[in-house]
Parts: sequence; structure tokens; C-alpha cells
Amino acid sequence: MCGKLILLSVAMTSHGKFHLRMVLIGAAAVTATLFALRVAAQGSPQLVLPEDQATRVSDHVYAIMGFPNVAIVVGERATLVVDTGLGPRNGAIAAREAQKLAKGPMLYLTTTHYHPEHATGEGGFPPNTIIARPVAQQKELEERGMRFVEMFSSRSAQMKELLAGVKFRAPGITFEKEMTIDLGGASARLFWMGQAHTKGDELVDVEADSTLISGDVVQNKVAPNLPDDNASMKSWVEILSKLRGMTWQHVLPDHSAPGDGSLVEQDYQFFSVLQSRGLELKKRGEFPDHAGEILFAEFKMKYPDWQRLNAIPDIVKRIYAENP
Ligand SMILES: [Zn+2]
Repeated sequence: MCGKLILLSVAMTSHGKFHLRMVLIGAAAVTATLFALRVAAQGSPQLVLPEDQATRVSDHVYAIMGFPNVAIVVGERATLVVDTGLGPRNGAIAAREAQKLAKGPMLYLTTTHYHPEHATGEGGFPPNTIIARPVAQQKELEERGMRFVEMFSSRSAQMKELLAGVKFRAPGITFEKEMTIDLGGASARLFWMGQAHTKGDELVDVEADSTLISGDVVQNKVAPNLPDDNASMKSWVEILSKLRGMTWQHVLPDHSAPGDGSLVEQDYQFFSVLQSRGLELKKRGEFPDHAGEILFAEFKMKYPDWQRLNAIPDIVKRIYAENP
């Protein structure tokens, strides 16, 4: 928790208006509150990243809370941006925010996975930005990146406008499993552990701050998002099981509020129990549809405040298919 104390709490009045009340909480809690406020106020996150509202997660790490949460890691010599926002206009916002916080001249960019809100803002970054990502993610981006751009563009006029003319840039650096960028006074370890939400999910460890920038791999109370056959529940559970062996004080997910290291264990418990319950029901001979109904009901009772619970029937089908 950062030392800076800020007085803020937010409550919705019966008239649906936001009411701000002052209480004593730390900076991490403020970041979480602002995230909740942005999402609650709009029903869904705004597609354009907010300017001049980067919040501090830890000594060297800042976050632009939006779609997605964009992390900015600031060293004495170089700055690293993690994820771009949707399309070049958002990428330019993320780059500007990074430049406002930067202490040194060099700018690095990496992406937690290839989906449009994470990677299509590359074009808005200055030409000398050094782009780095895992080989598995780069391959996936080349194979499926434009397909997702088209899919997102068909969702709304605003998405279409933000994604107009998107072209992916060639990365300056690709790596197999991990690489460390020395930013000056702090370093960022970019690492890939295998298939989870996508084949190329990347996480970033800022060891000096005990901060994990977790992409989609670790979220704050969000059921697994398995968008297509490049996702794997089985491999995701294995990754969470390995992450449990490491400890962080701060975790910044890309689509939910930041939290502490307990987010890893919280996700592991949800994911691994969902998988093992699915396998039990399969062994018992339940049809996948029925198993999905049973586990949806069970998890709604046990995790009432989690998002995406209605995806559980599809996740259960996936668990059946991945374990023939
Ligand atoms: Zn995604």
C-alpha cells in the first residue's frame, strides 16, 4: 500500500447520482474505487482512455484505468507501456501519458495478448518506440489479429471508427519465454508461461515494486474468459498453480480492479475447483449441458460478486472437451 492517503469514497444515491464521501483509504484502494466508478457510471468501460488520470500502483508502476487498464512502468532511463488501448487514437493517449511520467528518453511497448484493445494502438506510438512481445503472441497476432479487428469493428460504430485503418507494427524484439528490460533503477521481466486466455498471454513482473501486471491471466473476481480455441482452461489452471509459488504485493489486471497478491490464489481456487468439479461430473456420466447448469448454480451461490458467471456452462463444455 502506498503511503499517500487520500480521502474518497463513492456511493450511488437512490437517484442514481454519484455521491462522494470522504474516508481514510490508501492509494491502491483509490485506484480500485476509481475503476469501479468508471465501470459503474458507464455500464461498460469507456472505449477511449482517460487523459491525465493515471493512478499510482506502486513506486515505479502507474495505471491508466480503462479498456483495458494500461500499465506504465517508469525507470530513470526508460519507460515501458504495457498494452495500447483500442486503435491508434488510444495508443497516442497511452504514449502521451507515458511521456508525461517518463524520466528517461527511451520508450518500450509490450502487449499482454494480441486482442484489439491490447495491441491495435501500436500505430499511435512514436516511431522510435521499441516493441517487444513473446514469439507465441507474435505468431498468433499475425494469424488472428486482423480477424479480431474485423470482429470488434462490427460491434459498434465507435469501435469501427477507432479501429479504422489499423496496421500492426513489426516488433523490434521477440522472445521465447522471458526477457528483462532494465529501465534504470527498476527492471521489468516480461514472461510467457503458455496458453491461457490466448496462446500468447504475457505477464510483467516489476520485481523492485513486487508488482505483477497480469493481463487476462489473473483478474479480480472475473470467471475465465475463453474466447476461442486458442484459449485453454487446463493450461490456464497449470499456470495459476505455478504463479501461486511466487508472491507479489500488488497485482494489476487488465480488465478488473487492482488488488494484492491474494488475487492469484483467489483465481486459482475458482479455476481449479471449477475444473475439478467439471471432471467429477463428467466421470459420473453427466451430460455437459446438465453439468454446466449444476456448476453455474453452485458457483453463483459461492461467488455471487464475480463477473462473467454466465460463461460457466460454456466453460464446462470446454473442460469436457479438453479432458477426453
Ligand atoms: Zn483478450
